[in-house]
Amino acid sequence: MKELDYLCAVPSSGTGAPSVYLTFDDGPNPVFTPEILDVLAEYRVPATFFVIGAYAQDRPQLIRRMIAQGHEVANHTMTHPDLSTCGRQDVERQVLQANRAIRMACPDASVRHIRAPYGIWSEDVLTTSASAGLAAVHWSVDPRDWSRPGIDAIVEAVLASVRPGSVILLHDGCPPDELANTEASLRDQTVAALSRLIPALHGRGFVIRSLP
Ligand SMILES: [Zn+2]
Repeated sequence: MKELDYLCAVPSSGTGAPSVYLTFDDGPNPVFTPEILDVLAEYRVPATFFVIGAYAQDRPQLIRRMIAQGHEVANHTMTHPDLSTCGRQDVERQVLQANRAIRMACPDASVRHIRAPYGIWSEDVLTTSASAGLAAVHWSVDPRDWSRPGIDAIVEAVLASVRPGSVILLHDGCPPDELANTEASLRDQTVAALSRLIPALHGRGFVIRSLP
């Protein structure tokens, strides 16, 4: 089988300050996305939001706010299925519909990246993404913030494994049908952890950038 090819970390250019990349999956969420955007604005750092198309459709104002604040909006499929269980046509539909939903919400958005739900990539996903002009982006640092392990645990997990070029996975929302409206769907710990993580990363000399 051919090896699947997607980006986990950004290769260092070797010059300048080391960079890290903040990414948020499974939004936009009416409660937590605005709070994340507030924290990012406070520290003036960019992030990439891998949004679910159906949520983008429901909350276009949040997509517009992401773009207006200088963030990247990226594709996390239309309804967040495990794409390895989908036929090729369904994969195409999931990817293209999400692109369309983002552009409907914000015609200025240029969607350049995709992340497969659960990080489950397949040859079909990569081929479809490439032909839609989307670069496949995984992650290299995963503090499992979605499991609500505690604010300290999220901060410590990131700081323990962050390296130059790290792509950090966080969550501003919760996939449809997954624990919606339960405590497990809350992202308050992510918000609190973020406001400690940004200064801590800066303190270690990292520059937080948009995905290249
Ligand atoms: Zn996801």
